[in-house]
Amino acid sequence: MSVDAIVIGAGFAGLYAVHRCVAAGLTVVGLEAAPSVGGTWYWNRYPGARCDVESVDYSYSFDEDLQSDWTWSERFAAQPEILAYLDHVADRFDLRRHYQFETDVVGARFDAGQWTVETSTGDRVVGRFLLCATGCLSAVNRPDIPGLDDFAGEMYYTAAWPREDPDLRGKKIGVIGTGSSGIQAVPILAEQAESLVVFQRSPNYTVPMPNYPWSSADLQRIRDEYPERRQRSAYAAAGTPHGTYHKNALDAEPGERLDAMWQRWRDGGVLFAKTFPDQTSVLEANDIARRFAEDRIREIVTDPAVAEDLIPVDHPIGTKRICTDAGYYATFNRDNVRLVNLRREPIEEITEDGVRTASATYACDVLVFATGFDALTGAMTRIDPKGPDGQRLSDIWVDGPLTFLGVMVPRLPNLFSFSGPGSPSVLANMALHAEVQVDWAIGLMVDALGRGITEVEPRRDAALAWTDGVAEAAERTLFPRAQSSWYLGANIEGKKRVFMPYAGGFGNYRKYLDDVAQRGYPGLVLTTGVAW
Ligand code: FAD
Ligand code: NAP
Repeated sequence: MSVDAIVIGAGFAGLYAVHRCVAAGLTVVGLEAAPSVGGTWYWNRYPGARCDVESVDYSYSFDEDLQSDWTWSERFAAQPEILAYLDHVADRFDLRRHYQFETDVVGARFDAGQWTVETSTGDRVVGRFLLCATGCLSAVNRPDIPGLDDFAGEMYYTAAWPREDPDLRGKKIGVIGTGSSGIQAVPILAEQAESLVVFQRSPNYTVPMPNYPWSSADLQRIRDEYPERRQRSAYAAAGTPHGTYHKNALDAEPGERLDAMWQRWRDGGVLFAKTFPDQTSVLEANDIARRFAEDRIREIVTDPAVAEDLIPVDHPIGTKRICTDAGYYATFNRDNVRLVNLRREPIEEITEDGVRTASATYACDVLVFATGFDALTGAMTRIDPKGPDGQRLSDIWVDGPLTFLGVMVPRLPNLFSFSGPGSPSVLANMALHAEVQVDWAIGLMVDALGRGITEVEPRRDAALAWTDGVAEAAERTLFPRAQSSWYLGANIEGKKRVFMPYAGGFGNYRKYLDDVAQRGYPGLVLTTGVAW
């Protein structure tokens, strides 16, 4: 089978890519490992899974009718609702018929002007362009803890939660991992469990999520202001309509600062990470917000020793992904919940019936792994596409990810990668981010096909310049100070430590993409003459 475009993935980016290909009159095949659409929202169905960007913003903007027909029920939508939305999109735009589901792409090779993709089903699919919408948080990290295979109880990964929600009521549950996923799941698991042990290697900052059902008045107001709201998001630093407080923390009086922080704390979630413009770039400003958040932890958690264990000591607030929660800290006031600080008592092994640390053995019927992802690069390096001269992605990225505009990779012609390194990615609202990147790629493909161009590939010097720019943007922030962050790949053994997302802002990123397209794609080598 030979097509114009092969799209890997059926999440926000993949679905939109297939839709845009069809609309542009291109033939397209979509390949997806899961049995259905949804990407992140297909796989992450653990108790408590929700978005941390408001539902009305964390949704496509490309179709006015879709936007006005769909009604979000809550401010922060839960996983089933986001999955239902993506199901609706797939049906509404008739996208499923282009997909082969339960099909894992296991390799890809560019030769004679085309990509040949190998799948787990033994098929080969050939296409001119390869669009990798494989996700930034899709390659699950399954830590290799001694004794794991001996565990006789139930074992679940938040990132691959069973479709049939397991009944965990009355069981002894152990949760390993206290990032956003663990922090969302813990309060609900605590309510279900006979006992819950939370195994924490690193504490994270988390801010309560003031979630509520949208009222009809809220929804009407949002509908009325949608065009303006979307326009603001399009050029905002994080792809949402919210900005920071109008003054730097260091320019505001202490009382004014405190009011601003309380306001932001009540607004909730990720917004607190950027209360002040200088908060993510000036340590002294960050310290003000950090101390405010730490005071809240000490207020909520009744046992002072537990409170201290829950306070991060290794990074400025917001420089690892800030978490959002529904009663996380208060969960540690429950009689059936215990926090185990793995920095003091590391896990030595998993036994048949629990977890043995350096100090004690904790009996568990169920182990929940909320241990994260090989983020940003993992899904792509697991495919490890091979270019025309035999170079693999893993060779090209040996010193860290090298991209042009966070979308293309030198030596891998006609390949686009979405949501990955070198783009704002996880620092932005990724529904809009998917649209921006896919639009750019389709624009280039259509332009190339119209001009008889058969190969498009970034020049190495252009990719190096972009990647240097990504590093410089990070250096202007406090992000690189979080040395144990997955933003730097620190959670995966042997992974090169490089700050991977573009921290220069979503709006600026969009302008770069637009500018390169308007100027006829400087930085790319456009080749004609390969016969298809
Ligand atoms: P994904 O949704 O990850 O889709 C990628 C798809 O590619 C997957 O279905 C996967 O199965 C498939 N795939 C990968 N490799 C292969 C292969 N080799 N062969 C076949 N198929 C393959 N972002 C926000 O902006 N706001 C949020 O509130 C938010 N909440 C999140 C909550 C959770 C629990 C997680 C894990 C992430 C969250 N994110 C959030 C980030 C989220 O990943 C993105 O918002 C977005 O869903 C990514 O869409 P995508 O299409 O790029 O990738
Ligand atoms: P994560 O942030 O990487 O957290 C993984 C956790 O597992 C960390 O606490 C980590 O500890 C721990 N861990 C990993 N290996 C371990 C081991 N061998 N032993 C003990 N502990 C181990 O992953 P995540 O929670 O899935 O979140 C990833 C990202 O997905 C988030 O940052 C966010 O962008 C997105 N997300 C968003 C939401 C939302 O609110 N909308 C919800 C979930 C996820 P260390 O920190 O010490 O490595």
